[in-house]
Amino acid sequence: MPISYDNTLELPVFQFENLKNIPGLAHAISTRLAPGRPLITEVQPSAPNDYRLAGRAAYIQKETVMGRRSEFLAALGLDYEKIQPNLVGVRQLHTATVRTVGAEAYGANLNWDNPLPDCDGVITDQPGVPLMTIHADCPAILLYDQVRKVAGTLHSGWRGTVGKIALEGVRQMVDGYGSDPKNILAGIGPSIGPCCYQVGEPVLSEVKRAFGPEMAAELLIQQPDGSYHFDLWQAIYNTLLEAGLDPAHIEQSQVCTLCENETFFSYRATPPDQRQNYGQFTAVIVLT
Ligand SMILES: [Zn+2]
Repeated sequence: MPISYDNTLELPVFQFENLKNIPGLAHAISTRLAPGRPLITEVQPSAPNDYRLAGRAAYIQKETVMGRRSEFLAALGLDYEKIQPNLVGVRQLHTATVRTVGAEAYGANLNWDNPLPDCDGVITDQPGVPLMTIHADCPAILLYDQVRKVAGTLHSGWRGTVGKIALEGVRQMVDGYGSDPKNILAGIGPSIGPCCYQVGEPVLSEVKRAFGPEMAAELLIQQPDGSYHFDLWQAIYNTLLEAGLDPAHIEQSQVCTLCENETFFSYRATPPDQRQNYGQFTAVIVLT
């Protein structure tokens, strides 16, 4: 699947073909691309390793990030000043927990210093409430129920993937909003791909536990040197099928952040001595 850039936008962004041009829905994944300069949409805190403690309050270049975020949302036709108080972020702790937000999200500033705690995904049926997750090598999963008009974004690194956060996201749409999985469209965003994602323990054991030996054999690809690569995209795709989605409704970006590091940030592509400042990109979905 080629990267989809909408040249009518001032800022090049990634968009899924199956979620584009749907009335009442806007979505995008930010890139590093900007005319004449590198784009940094998110910057990781400079010091602490404990992401829970660091949170987004510790970002050292908050003004820069906020400026870029404003630009990014403006490229989607969203008025940042107006919509920023409704923007919902999540804490992202590599869990498989998904939360829903309702009308209480309006003006609640559930982003930056105050994202939804203890979860890696968020779902809403409220128009004008943009949902945001941030990524470096872990895929975003965007979900949209075209009948019930419910949207969500999930952060699915290896822990979220073996925890089947995709299944949990769909379950919450079904239980909370009466969604039929057959009506849900899904996009699996850019992330480190099966070409590059070398894994060892505990990932190998966890993949086998979560998916069973037969499917794990498909998801863990042995390399000529004997090491294994994990196919996050296929694992998430399989999980979405398990959740009841129509295969025709699942789009995989098939973009590897390590191979395409000039377009997307990648933690693994960042030299180890610079990883305290690795860049991240943003996935946003909003009912308009
Ligand atoms: Zn790659």
